[in-house]
Order: sequence, then structure tokens, then C-alpha cells
Amino acid sequence: STSLDTNGIRDQFPGLTPGWHYLDSAATAQKPQAVIDACTLAMGRDYATVHRGVYARSADMTLAYEAARRRIAAFIGATEDQVAFVRGATEAINLVAYAHPKKGRVLLSLIEHHSNIVPWQLAGWQIDVCPLTADGRIDLDAAERMLTPDHTMVAFAHVSNVLGSPLDVARAAELAHRVGAELLVDGCQAVPRLPVDVAALGCDYYVFSGHKLYGPTGIGVLWSDRLDTLPPWQGGGSMIDRVTFDRTTYAPAPTRFEAGTPAIIEALGLAAAVDYVDAIGLDAIHAHECALVGSLREQLARRNSVTLFGPDTSAGIVSFAMAGVHPHDIGTILDESSVAIRAGHHCAQPLMEHLGVAATARASFGLYSNDDDVAALIDGLARVERIFG
Ligand code: PMP
Repeated sequence: STSLDTNGIRDQFPGLTPGWHYLDSAATAQKPQAVIDACTLAMGRDYATVHRGVYARSADMTLAYEAARRRIAAFIGATEDQVAFVRGATEAINLVAYAHPKKGRVLLSLIEHHSNIVPWQLAGWQIDVCPLTADGRIDLDAAERMLTPDHTMVAFAHVSNVLGSPLDVARAAELAHRVGAELLVDGCQAVPRLPVDVAALGCDYYVFSGHKLYGPTGIGVLWSDRLDTLPPWQGGGSMIDRVTFDRTTYAPAPTRFEAGTPAIIEALGLAAAVDYVDAIGLDAIHAHECALVGSLREQLARRNSVTLFGPDTSAGIVSFAMAGVHPHDIGTILDESSVAIRAGHHCAQPLMEHLGVAATARASFGLYSNDDDVAALIDGLARVERIFG
């Protein structure tokens, strides 16, 4: 029922061992051999530091590191001066929350991951919380009523990591800008699932983690078309222009935000992941995951024991509950059938409270997921029903 050749694709992912049904790509995606090879070369044959070396190997690595930045920037419709490498979405949001010169009121939503809540709290922002629609999308009509000229920031997930709900980013940007606020979009779950063009979206900051985009851990992106308006956050080597004990001047963005020796291997690995994903195409990946979500939601809806969360338009992610069975028990019993799902609060405790549950079971797809994975999950749930009968 789907358009991608997942058999051919799965052969390229050594982590997808035969017979194992990996349905936790929203937590982290498996890696294609092309990414592993790029990291191996970067750590082996081609390894050297960047920026400082006068010898050829280091100069070559500096070129490769900056080429990776250009490649990743182009993937999201940006230019390289707008992309700072960070450790992941968590660090990107912390960076903006701490460094922002106009800390004031931020509008978040009930759907946010803890990494888009706690940094704002720690950095001293006043927080307002936008409610959700009945089907679990950020309620932008409510956001429109709540936003005031006191708000300097709105920070919303592009796709919910629990419900898969997509955000109308263009409208959110328009609402934020109308009151003079900026919009930060947490793109962790969107970048692997939807074509993303930051210029067309109209947001001011866009963040994501490489490991959910089939790349390595330890690398992520902070994109902004106004990085130069942010003062430095962490100090150290590489981010400076000139240092004296009286006064230090800083490098321009994005280098200003990359204190210390950067994640060189991971940056090259992420560029390889972007090449891999682009060759398949995000339109095709999105259509493929939508077909899987449609099929899974339809089969889950037929079971009396199952409650489905989130909208029918969920991108790649399906959360559900089963009457009388704790999600952890669902996960444990499914694991006995080699089906790997996530069970828990998914780092979104305020959303759990809103849904009136302590946890959900969550199945999430990647570009390698297929109908066999869905069938194995449904078979496994039938077994759960028999055990808890
Ligand atoms: N936001 C969302 C929507 C996520 O799904 C995640 C990862 N679960 C994060 C932020 C945090 O990403 P990381 O842990 O890679 O920094």
C-alpha cells in the first residue's frame, strides 16, 4: 500500500535486524550505512581538527565541515551563515532562551516537549500556555486571543512528538509577528517527516536534532535569519575575534555560537544523512508515513479496547491507550514479539495531564517502516488483549 521500496531501504540499515519491528523512530532514527561510512571516514582516514590547523589534513577537514553546514542549510532552504551547529534541539532552545536580549513573556503550548518548556523556565521567562483543539492540535484561534504586545516569543512544536499533530507554521508566525513577538519552531519531529523550507515558513528560529533525521547523536541545528542579534552564550575557543583580559570581541554568527572543538564527525555524518534523505525525497517519505499512519489508525479504531489520541492528520506518530492495560505492559508484551514501541510520558507531562493519562503507548514510523511492522503491532496487541482478557 506504500510507495517506497522498504525492502531495498531496510538492507541499508544495519540496525534493522531481520524480524525486529522498530516503531520508535520518533525517539531516534536508525542510521543508513551511508551515514555510518561517512562517520567512519571522518573519524579515520580524514580525521583532524577544524579551523586551527595549518597542515593540509586540517584545512581539508575545515572545508568539509563548512561544506556540511552548507549542505544542511540548503536542505532546509537556508544559507550557511544562518545555521549554527549545536548538540541538538535541547541545546538550541536553551541557547535562544538564555541568550535572547528581550527575555519577557513566551507563549508555549500544552503539547510541548519538556525541552521546549524547562529552558524557558530556567532562563526566567514568564510563560503562558496555549490550549489545544479537541483533536490535539495547537489552537491558533486561542493563541490569537492570548497574544499581547508583552510577548516577545512564541515557541511551538512543528509536529508533536506524542500526537503527530502538525502546526500551521505560517499562521503561527503571522500571529506572533502581529504583536511584535518572534516565533521559534521546534522542528525535531517535522524535519524527518515533512519537506521544510524555513524561508517559506516565516518563523524566526527553527531547531532540530540530527539523530531523528537518520544522522548521528550529538549534533543539531539552530537556524535563524537573525543569529547576529543574539549575543554569545557559551565562551571558549573558536567563537572569538580577539581576546585580552580586559576585553574580548566575538566572531560573527554562526561561529560565535560554536565555542570549543565542534562535533566534526557528527556534522559530516548529518550531511550524509541529509544526502540520503534528499535522494529519497521528503514528499515521498511523508506520503509513505501518512499511508502507514492511516492504516494503523484505521486498524486501531476497529478495536474496542483501544483509545486513539491525536488528529487523523498525524505525521508519522500514533499514540494510543488500551482499556485496563498500563502502556508499559503493552510495551513489554510487544517486545516479546519483537515489536519496539515507546511507552511513557514522552517528555510531555503537561500533555499527559491534559489527556488525563499517566502515559501513552506510542508507535512512530520512519522511512524504512512498512506494512509488516503495522501487522506485527496489531498481532501483538491482539496478544495483549488475550493476556489481559
Ligand atoms: N522536541 C521534540 C518535539 C522532540 O521529539 C524531542 C526529542 N524527543 C526534543 C525536542 C528533544 O530533542 P533532543 O533530545 O535530541 O535534544
